[in-house]
Amino acid sequence: AHPVDVPVDPERGAAVKAADRAHVFHSWSAQAVIDPLAVAGARGSYFWDYEGNRYLDFSSQLVNTNIGHQHPKVVAAIQEQAGKLATFAPAFAIDVRSEAARLIAELTPGDLNKIFFTNGGAEAVENAVRMARLHTGRHKVLSTYRSYHGATAAAINLTGDPRRWASDTGSAGVVHFWGPFLYRSQFHASTEAEECERALRHLEELIAFEGPQTIAAIILETVPGTAGIMVPPPGYLAGVREICDRYGIVFILDEVMAGFGRTGKWFAADHWGVTPDLMTFAKGVNSGYVPLGGVAISERIAETFAHRPYPGGLTYSGHPLACASAIATISAMRDERIVENAAEIGERVLGPGLRELAARHECVGEVRGMGVFWALELVRDRSTREPLVPYNASGADAAPMARFAAACRQGGLWPFVNMNRTHVVPPCNVSEAEAKEGLAVLDAALSVVDGG
Ligand code: PMP
Repeated sequence: AHPVDVPVDPERGAAVKAADRAHVFHSWSAQAVIDPLAVAGARGSYFWDYEGNRYLDFSSQLVNTNIGHQHPKVVAAIQEQAGKLATFAPAFAIDVRSEAARLIAELTPGDLNKIFFTNGGAEAVENAVRMARLHTGRHKVLSTYRSYHGATAAAINLTGDPRRWASDTGSAGVVHFWGPFLYRSQFHASTEAEECERALRHLEELIAFEGPQTIAAIILETVPGTAGIMVPPPGYLAGVREICDRYGIVFILDEVMAGFGRTGKWFAADHWGVTPDLMTFAKGVNSGYVPLGGVAISERIAETFAHRPYPGGLTYSGHPLACASAIATISAMRDERIVENAAEIGERVLGPGLRELAARHECVGEVRGMGVFWALELVRDRSTREPLVPYNASGADAAPMARFAAACRQGGLWPFVNMNRTHVVPPCNVSEAEAKEGLAVLDAALSVVDGG
């Protein structure tokens, strides 16, 4: 049903849109070309435009609204905190900040017991890299080509995918390597075991030629997200952990997208029992209700800064409203078994449902994922695996994906589309009925692509 407090008012929608076009400068966009939807309101897994059209949010916005929109407990916690103490500088001990840090430390694996708060993912990556450099006294950082780590200076250089290109300084101590991805193997592997072994050998050789004593850190997304949701083969992360230990390299896992329930566990690293030295998080920590991210720090690295000041900080680090919303989000996730729901929906509904779509739609090259974190790789030709649109296509070249996205929206589903992939990333508390509703819309939209 349409929520009573979400307006249906096309005229107001037009005014909102006109003001946006006049004054808002949008990210990642050609300003004169984009046509943003004016949104009137949102609830749970759905949002509405001012025409009264409803969209099932299969993108979770930027894969961050893990508990859906307007969760009443989180909204109430923010309101209550605003009434008590709306803002306070990071140097002070305040109740919601200590409690959020305690809860996060308790959830993160191993001895990641200290939490440095940031306003989002990129800042978390910047600080993790700084900590690793200061801890080791080394400069280089290794990251994979198929990755995204954020849009600030170091984070965009570490990013491997084309979003890096325009801002890449080409050095800054960053070296890229290939992570495992069997479907488009760089190593001519034909099994997961082969891919794993060869990817680890590639990394070892790269380290040998870069000089282990020059490498501060290796940063990986535990399950690379925006670059394609590529679940690593068994043994890969443990292999990287072992390599890092052998050479005294800091192992950073970026869980900004994969963390806080997305994969059906609190952290993706939990699937493989791997503990990094530093773990970045953001997005799902409070479903994005107030900007928040952070770095979970191992005792060993925290020790480096026990008597030597950590040279970094942010005015809004551990903002009270953000911390209050994190506490409420984490407790709602526990009370409502939202992480368990993500695992179950993935295993019972989305996984089988997407594989069934792949069996019927010629344009689906591969289905991969876990929890509520799935990718459909769309191809022109299944046997050659030629992507449906060229790498980093835009404009007319990207038209087949644009047609797919338009068909989804027409069917009442808001998709996440990147290059030749659509990611199926609903909130972690998506219901079975909603997941099935989404699969039906995807089915129809894939028929549009099949038809050419
Ligand atoms: N790391 C990963 C893995 C991400 O997915 C993102 C955002 N998509 C970031 C870092 C950057 O986070 P933010 O946009 O909050 O700076």
